[in-house]
Amino acid sequence: MQRYESLVIGLGAMGAATVYQLAKAGVKVAGIDRHHPPHTFGSSHGDTRITRLSVGEGAQYVPIVRNSHRIWRELEALSGEALFEQSGLLVLTSRDDFDPSDESDFTLRTIGLARTYGIDHEVLDATQIRQRFPQFAQVVDSAIGYYEPEGGFVRPERCIDVQLKLAEQHGATLYKGETVTEIQSDEHGVTVTTDRRTLQADKLVVSAGNWMGGLLSTPFDRLLSVYPQRLFWFELEPGVDLVGKSPTYILTHGQGEEGIHYGFPALPGEGSLKIATAQYHTPSTPETLDRTVSAAQERQMYEQQVQGRIAGVTAKVVKSAVCAYTVTPDHHFIIDEHPTLQHTLVASPCSGHGFKHSAALGEAFAQWCIQGASDLDLSSFSLKRFASR
Ligand SMILES: Cc1cc2nc3c(=O)[nH]c(=O)nc-3n(C[C@H](O)[C@H](O)[C@H](O)COP(=O)(O)OP(=O)(O)OC[C@H]3O[C@@H](n4cnc5c(N)ncnc54)[C@H](O)[C@@H]3O)c2cc1C
Repeated sequence: MQRYESLVIGLGAMGAATVYQLAKAGVKVAGIDRHHPPHTFGSSHGDTRITRLSVGEGAQYVPIVRNSHRIWRELEALSGEALFEQSGLLVLTSRDDFDPSDESDFTLRTIGLARTYGIDHEVLDATQIRQRFPQFAQVVDSAIGYYEPEGGFVRPERCIDVQLKLAEQHGATLYKGETVTEIQSDEHGVTVTTDRRTLQADKLVVSAGNWMGGLLSTPFDRLLSVYPQRLFWFELEPGVDLVGKSPTYILTHGQGEEGIHYGFPALPGEGSLKIATAQYHTPSTPETLDRTVSAAQERQMYEQQVQGRIAGVTAKVVKSAVCAYTVTPDHHFIIDEHPTLQHTLVASPCSGHGFKHSAALGEAFAQWCIQGASDLDLSSFSLKRFASR
């Protein structure tokens, strides 16, 4: 039976980063994935994921994303691939009933964090938003914007690919197309059984994304829910050229999940804008996920999110995709040692906002394997906050 110092289950965003950092540190490591990453079946496919230093989800994320930005640049230098596009990031609220004292407003939270952490940014009023960013010509007069020049997007599939290749160059073994079916542990280490072999290791990191609840069962099957998300690429009007003039953005225009959407810059040669919302009302499972997008859903997306809000965009959807979040009850990550399996770290950093942190979390998980703890403080993601559930 093959024995490693560390094993990583799941080689998506988190697992690829972890296995790379372990291999780079000289650890004898293997990674296992049921598919052939990067692939389109989990949470990490496509070309774009938003990244921003002022993380409105909470102050605990700021040191993590700072480390990730450093690592994306290191990976670019090592691989020659463009991974992190600093397109600039605009977080804006444009709603008639905007209350400037509303502490739950995402734009105001983002501005507050940027001020606290000294993150380079500008606060824009409606006139400045309209002048600087033509696609937002229709914002209401009370609109407020936060512009972060260092924000933008990372390229998820490329990031995973680069880290896995570098991991292999550093000696990591990758078992792809192999599904883990059982995990056992005792005081000597862990034993992981796949549909093809059994492996042993001193330490294990489980980063199985959408499949985590099914693989680890209680309490993770109770705490983690899978929500499919639809992504739409709307064709630009003839003659409209937004390349280099459109930022990565998050727009709040109303209440609840239908009152907010996000989008990416127009990319050269695409002639479209990628726009998406997040839904938390219709769960699914990785096995039963509906990957189709209907014409009615395209029309609804245009009418609710695009029409009258984003200038220069037609109702024609040139491409659509489905990808799924793994969501915790409070929408923050779960990163903790497994309550009963020994030597095992469980990493579920999704809830729809994990990719930007993945490079730094991989580094932190590698430190946990090597020295028993990470330099980053990850205590706010511990399981104990759900003790009463
Ligand atoms: C539509 C969408 C938009 C998003 N937008 C953003 C964004 O703008 N910014 C941002 O920061 N984040 C965003 N996220 C979140 C981010 O993409 C996720 O946090 C991240 O991709 C999660 O990575 P992961 O490694 O946990 O999961 P995954 O990348 O899905 O990896 C899990 C891996 O585990 C493997 N696996 C599962 N079970 C087994 C098993 N039994 N045996 C072997 N292998 C197994 C799977 O094959 C898979 O490769 C978005 C997510 C989605 C879905």
